[in-house]
Amino acid sequence: MNFSNNNDNKMPQGNTAVGMTSIAHIYKIGRGPSSSHTIGPEKACNIFKSKYPTANKFTVILYGSLAKTGKGHGTDTVIKKTFAPVECEITFDIEKKDLPHPNTMELAAFENSKEIAKTTVLSIGGGNIFFEDSLVESEPIVYPHNKFIDIEAYCSDNNMRLWEYVVQHEGQQIESYLETVWTSMKDSIKIGLRSEGILPGGLELQRKAKTLYNSQHIDETPETKQNRKVCSYAFAVSEQNAAGETIVTAPTCGAAGVLPAVLYYHQVKNRYSDEQIIHALMTAGLIGNLIKTNASISGAECGCQAEIGSACAMAAAALAELFDLSIDKIEYAAEIAIEHHLGLTCDPICGLVQIPCIERNAVAAMRAINAVSLASFLWSTRKISLDNVIQTMKETGHDLSSPYKETSEAGLAKIKIQI
Ligand code: SF4
Repeated sequence: MNFSNNNDNKMPQGNTAVGMTSIAHIYKIGRGPSSSHTIGPEKACNIFKSKYPTANKFTVILYGSLAKTGKGHGTDTVIKKTFAPVECEITFDIEKKDLPHPNTMELAAFENSKEIAKTTVLSIGGGNIFFEDSLVESEPIVYPHNKFIDIEAYCSDNNMRLWEYVVQHEGQQIESYLETVWTSMKDSIKIGLRSEGILPGGLELQRKAKTLYNSQHIDETPETKQNRKVCSYAFAVSEQNAAGETIVTAPTCGAAGVLPAVLYYHQVKNRYSDEQIIHALMTAGLIGNLIKTNASISGAECGCQAEIGSACAMAAAALAELFDLSIDKIEYAAEIAIEHHLGLTCDPICGLVQIPCIERNAVAAMRAINAVSLASFLWSTRKISLDNVIQTMKETGHDLSSPYKETSEAGLAKIKIQI
């Protein structure tokens, strides 16, 4: 199954057209540390290079967040590697304001100093890209609905669970793809828990997952033990991401630790089968897809609420699915998870996906578990729908001032750390 090479959606953001594309686009397997700053640009450059095999030079201009945090995120390194051995000249343009998306890049191909092609690409979050000139075909719409209320009504009419809705529209092939996804998520946890040392980038940040996993206080209770284990899994994946290793976007690289941490903890503790986990991943993918389609999963577009908030909602929905809760309760768990991330800014120190990102994954994993607990008791009293809160997240994200959206110009990123 090749999910990697096409425009992901007909519209670059907040698609209001009917339907949604495959949930496979929510789970991309690739190298960290940033889906929009490494996986997306890498994919765009690969497509462009393959379209112009005779080119003997490429140029890339990075704009917006790609220009402001591209160095910390390793965007230039991945682009040069992708075009190699062909020469590639990269420009960071931090001045241009009137952009179609905060993550915009312009690619040009040259043959003997003559420009033979030029295109603009938007990296719209989660490794998804959009070629402005339709250089590649749009991905097909596989779901007829793009609002939770409609999906819920359909499932109710047809007496099916959310994961069954996914299988009905995607076919059995989604199950085998998600088996690969789950294996890759578990690998990130296991390798991350074994790894030690300093993360790259210059912040001198120690990996902490292994210590967290092995540390045990004398007065540890079952609750604090759960916290420590779940957090260690989230740290493990996030540290693998920060080190530029292979991870699965869920829905982005920066937020990749939340969902696997919650699912892995409960699989180990309660011996859920891989099949049950795959069903939970389907439900989580549906929630991520709704957010991507109706709002954004891009920190550069809507702040960290769109990355960590979305990941938390996906994890809450997945856990509620694993617990076999009703669709109402799954919806409420996901809604709570986003609601309490509203307004969260994206302010990575030195443009590295390390502080606050790694800890933030662990905190969000705990929050997802709490959201499921609240939803299972209070679901009948809720007043806000998932569709409502997704719309609110989009509006809040657009109201956030641009320095708080993956530019490293404000918030925690202003704190001077000697590197
Ligand atoms: S602060 Fe949040 S959105 Fe920004 S890079 Fe870190 S994880 Fe991603």
